[in-house]
Amino acid sequence: MQDDNKIKPATTIVCVDCGGPATLITFEPELGWEIGDVVAYRCRDCLDRWDLVLEADDN
Ligand SMILES: [Zn+2]
Repeated sequence: MQDDNKIKPATTIVCVDCGGPATLITFEPELGWEIGDVVAYRCRDCLDRWDLVLEADDN
């Protein structure tokens, strides 16, 4: 059984404000990530929170 909709968000992104590392603070759902899910990141340096919507970008 293949599930082509499975995607994984990056565990860290670069903070748009300060350029510091922002780490994923949203736990993976029981059924895994899906396109359209909102994931939140917290910047280590400025403590800003970033919400991203998962998008299909791999095909
Ligand atoms: Zn920052």
